[in-house]
Amino acid sequence: MFPNPSDAAFNIDTKIITPDLIEQAARCVREGGLVVFPTETVYGLGANALDSRAAKRIYAAKGRPSDNPLICHMSSPDRAEIYCETNELYYRLARRFMPGPLTVILPKKNDKNGVPVIPDSVTGGLATAAVRVPSNAVARELIERAGVPVAAPSANISGRPSPTALRHVIEDMYGRADMIIDGGESEIGLESTVITIDRNTIKILRPGAVTPEDLRGVCGSVTVDPAVCEKFDGVPLSPGMKYRHYAPRARVIMLEGEDEAVYGFLADKQDCGILCYDTDTPLLDRPGTMSMGKKEDHATQARRLFACLRDLDGVEVIYTRMPSRDGLGLAVYNRLIKAAGYEVISL
Ligand code: AMP
Ligand code: MG
Repeated sequence: MFPNPSDAAFNIDTKIITPDLIEQAARCVREGGLVVFPTETVYGLGANALDSRAAKRIYAAKGRPSDNPLICHMSSPDRAEIYCETNELYYRLARRFMPGPLTVILPKKNDKNGVPVIPDSVTGGLATAAVRVPSNAVARELIERAGVPVAAPSANISGRPSPTALRHVIEDMYGRADMIIDGGESEIGLESTVITIDRNTIKILRPGAVTPEDLRGVCGSVTVDPAVCEKFDGVPLSPGMKYRHYAPRARVIMLEGEDEAVYGFLADKQDCGILCYDTDTPLLDRPGTMSMGKKEDHATQARRLFACLRDLDGVEVIYTRMPSRDGLGLAVYNRLIKAAGYEVISL
């Protein structure tokens, strides 16, 4: 963990995380500052979710459109009660998946003057708020000690791949945040599952490590918002879904087809990046090729995806294989299709 130096020197002071340092970060949040902290999904850029000015600093640091709401991180599921209308299904989900990578959208509560307790600037002007209880120990300790909900989007410049290691955070946020806590590599590597709930139905707005199958174990009716897989021109339920996202500077193109067809297509392509599987031996020794893991190992693909997209950048085009959409694969597919701006070549 280190405070940003005011001079231009790139002087990074990494310290062992101690209770004192977490207290310092918690104080920074309480006083309106910006703290980058590790979570089990990706690194978050955190600020006091009850402080409009602090929230505005998040949008400025990321270059994030102000209509894209922030997730409010809490220390326990029942803290949501103070800020939002909860219900029976929320608590059933909380018992099964919290703390963990699940974000639930809930209606906001007003204070006695009729003003939403979580300011509109945090929720992109919406009457709902996104609630999550992270499981990462540093994140939990920070939120607990801050004593306020912590609004935290991913700690990347808006549109870029989310950070899953300190080096990504430094690339994007060095000089923009007041403090950065190094928590090593992110365990999951993709952002949380975002859902809305209505009586006894769940709609997935953004897929993540809590899969549709997992959710069906708690609630019979689970649907996936069409914007997860397809280009959507209307007003999306999740404002974030309408922006190009998770993308390196290079153009990303997904290749749909059997192994041999993909190898044939790539045979004469030069100076491109390739994101493939461990079993793609004809591709692996080419320069500019990285593997996201075994074809069926979606957890490894999720963990490596954003780092691969950053590491492959610097070429004009990155070609990628097309992951299957079952289980956690749906989340990997969703991030790749957004990074590709829906550009797919069927072979
Ligand atoms: P990030 O902060 O980068 O993890 O992105 C948060 C995601 O949650 C974005 O896609 C937002 O659009 C979505 N989100 C946050 N709050 C809400 C809300 N109240 N209603 C719908 N989607 C939301
Ligand atoms: Mg993000």
